[in-house]
Amino acid sequence: MQDYDVVVAGGGPVGLAFAGSLAGAGLRIALVDPQPAAGLADPADDGREIALTDRSVVMLRALGAWARVPDAVVAPLRRMQVLNGPSRYAMQFGAIKAGDGPVGRFVPNHWLRRALHDVVQDQHGAEVLAERSVASVRIKDGAALATLSDGQVLRARLVVAADTRRSRLRQQQGIPVSLHDYGQRMMVCPVTHPLPHHKTATAWFEYGRTLVTLPLNGGRSSVVMTLSEADAAALLRLDDTAFGAEVTRRYYGRLGPMHPVGARHAVPVVTTYAARFIARRFALLGDAAVGMHPTTAHGFNFGMLGQHALACELRAAIAAGRDLADPAALRRYEATHRGETRLFFLGAEAVMRLYAAGDSLPARLLRDGALRLGNLPPLRQALTARMRDPDLGLADK
Ligand SMILES: Cc1cc2nc3c(=O)[nH]c(=O)nc-3n(C[C@H](O)[C@H](O)[C@H](O)COP(=O)(O)OP(=O)(O)OC[C@H]3O[C@@H](n4cnc5c(N)ncnc54)[C@H](O)[C@@H]3O)c2cc1C
Repeated sequence: MQDYDVVVAGGGPVGLAFAGSLAGAGLRIALVDPQPAAGLADPADDGREIALTDRSVVMLRALGAWARVPDAVVAPLRRMQVLNGPSRYAMQFGAIKAGDGPVGRFVPNHWLRRALHDVVQDQHGAEVLAERSVASVRIKDGAALATLSDGQVLRARLVVAADTRRSRLRQQQGIPVSLHDYGQRMMVCPVTHPLPHHKTATAWFEYGRTLVTLPLNGGRSSVVMTLSEADAAALLRLDDTAFGAEVTRRYYGRLGPMHPVGARHAVPVVTTYAARFIARRFALLGDAAVGMHPTTAHGFNFGMLGQHALACELRAAIAAGRDLADPAALRRYEATHRGETRLFFLGAEAVMRLYAAGDSLPARLLRDGALRLGNLPPLRQALTARMRDPDLGLADK
């Protein structure tokens, strides 16, 4: 049996960021993930472009991860607009006048994972245990025992599960979860196009599907489509030329002819919210706690807030000479993270289900009303403020 202070189940971006946030606290940390070591150190491109809020960038910078992300892969976002089907009415937020800075930045997910992995790899007291998963967690003699898939048992003061929205450890702990399967797939693919995107992300909703373009560097955009299972399967079967022609048609040629310049990836759209984020010597983080709809671009950002809140509580407990897994500290983490995420999650679910509701007249009218409401200055400012924090004074990268 090996002894650790903290066992982290999950070497995704949030588990890695959490391990990194404990640097310098004098803790022994094991981070466990079933992927091969090479896949964790140099993750494959999954086509995901992560829109980062200013607060996430500041946390990544403090971790030492931001400096490991090359400037060339960071794409600034100035403005977002949301359209409702064929209506020309757009809800707009972000930079309004010339000279306004970016409201967010896109970074490929695999670059974030690589940078965060490098941080943990170099961290004194942290070990990455690849090619193993945490199979179960139980409490014995006041400690948490994490049994790994290879039979090894790790004894820890706290186990943190960042093991995806379908978290097996959450289920084992008997933590109920509200889970909504949209029965859809989100497909992503980078494309080139001749017309400029003006660093603007555009989303529009029609015929039961959602289309988004995310502005990237080098005359490219990421096309992001929320589709029925059948439609996604049909698009995956097309060759590159036919796929390019089809996305050009679906995007009304707004950016000119589009050509794919990378692989297509399609993932199921499932959202989750755990009823509790903690148990005895146990905490949930990342998608395992709050699994946002990908269109909201908030899953990782919320994961960063959560891991930061939990790491701060652990550090405060240590500084006060209390147990690392002090129940009061874990409860404060839960309350903070619920406060940061709950209302936004519920609001986003209401909107996403409205847009997934097909094209009936009531759904169309409701959606049009929602866009007009979203254009009211206070709401528009609130939406922009979720991405941007001028007080943080971020420079352009
Ligand atoms: C298409 C798409 C676009 C997105 N865009 C954005 C965006 O713009 N902005 C944003 O903030 N978010 C975005 N997200 C969401 C974001 O990608 C996720 O919120 C984020 O990856 C969650 O990180 P995580 O570490 O919690 O989980 P994951 O990334 O799911 O990683 C979980 C890890 O746990 C490991 N694991 C599983 N089971 C076990 C076990 N039993 N023991 C040990 N390890 C285990 C897995 O191997 C995996 O490495 C997007 C998501 C999608 C699908």
